[in-house]
Amino acid sequence: MTDIAFIGLGNMGAPMAANLIRAGHRVRGFDLSAAAIAAHVAAGGEAASSAADAASAAEVVISMLPAGSHVRDLYLGAGGVVAAARGRDVLLIDGSTIDVETARDVARAAAAAGLPMLDAPVSGGVGGAQAGTLTFMVGGEEAAFTRARPLLGAMGKNIVHAGGPGAGQAAKICNNMILGVSMLAVCEAFVLADRLGLAREKLFEVSSTASGQCWSLTSYCPVPGPVPTAPSNRDYAPGFAAALMLKDLKLAQQAADASGAATPLGAEATALYQRINDAGLAGKDFSAAFTWLSGQKRE
Ligand code: NAD
Repeated sequence: MTDIAFIGLGNMGAPMAANLIRAGHRVRGFDLSAAAIAAHVAAGGEAASSAADAASAAEVVISMLPAGSHVRDLYLGAGGVVAAARGRDVLLIDGSTIDVETARDVARAAAAAGLPMLDAPVSGGVGGAQAGTLTFMVGGEEAAFTRARPLLGAMGKNIVHAGGPGAGQAAKICNNMILGVSMLAVCEAFVLADRLGLAREKLFEVSSTASGQCWSLTSYCPVPGPVPTAPSNRDYAPGFAAALMLKDLKLAQQAADASGAATPLGAEATALYQRINDAGLAGKDFSAAFTWLSGQKRE
């Protein structure tokens, strides 16, 4: 049994913490929302009165927060986790999806205080969090990764050590840039097929076994019919919301700007997902790009 502080009990954090409890760990949770803490207690967890309170007796701190600014404040702010854990052997794991620069800054500051830290963003969504089948992409030192592995294994199935600090975030945004671009490519192909009078099923039959094959087509087809489990068959209920795809594409562009990488398709996908979000589809699955695109006129 490990004493764990879990900060951020939202859509992802709550089921992840519940899986740690089921695995026999003692999990003291904190969230800004009292309702989230109450749900954590109902699931068998313990309540903390602040992040520092949760961290004060913990061997491991895990966070699952919206964005980089929250993570920086949580760990480095006044009354933050690093101050609360300093001088003890505490492992820090941030599972949020945030920018690479913040992940590296916070890990560096934690290391300076003698605290090992991992960035460990996930893919698999709320369903994967509930089922304990998340993929973790982990950045940080080997020894910290080895120590974290059993805990990550209670929340996920596929756990990859991607490299040093920030490498987990880098892996996540590179993967999701592929996903955003490939989904738009598949959507465009179906829009064109519709205009050409080519049956959707026939395009699927051809491309799913030809060189256009990709996950966005064969596992997550954006038009209803060919892949029964895809969100397109349930009015694009997420799944993975268009708002989160836009968030990740923006993080990829931020990293491309900082590193000087040329990512013109990533930039275009970001601009298109911005328009898709602005059109009222932020809460729909990101494959709803198809419905937006099919309503557009050629410019
Ligand atoms: P969420 O908004 O449901 O949960 C975030 C929680 O953090 C909220 O309950 C909020 O009250 C709490 N919080 C914010 N600031 C806090 C603070 N300073 N102290 C304590 N609690 C604080 O978000 P989510 O969907 O659970 O996502 C969490 C992270 O996981 C994000 O970075 C997101 O990009 C990533 N992610 C989400 C999904 C998904 O499908 N939802 C998939 C993969 C990755």
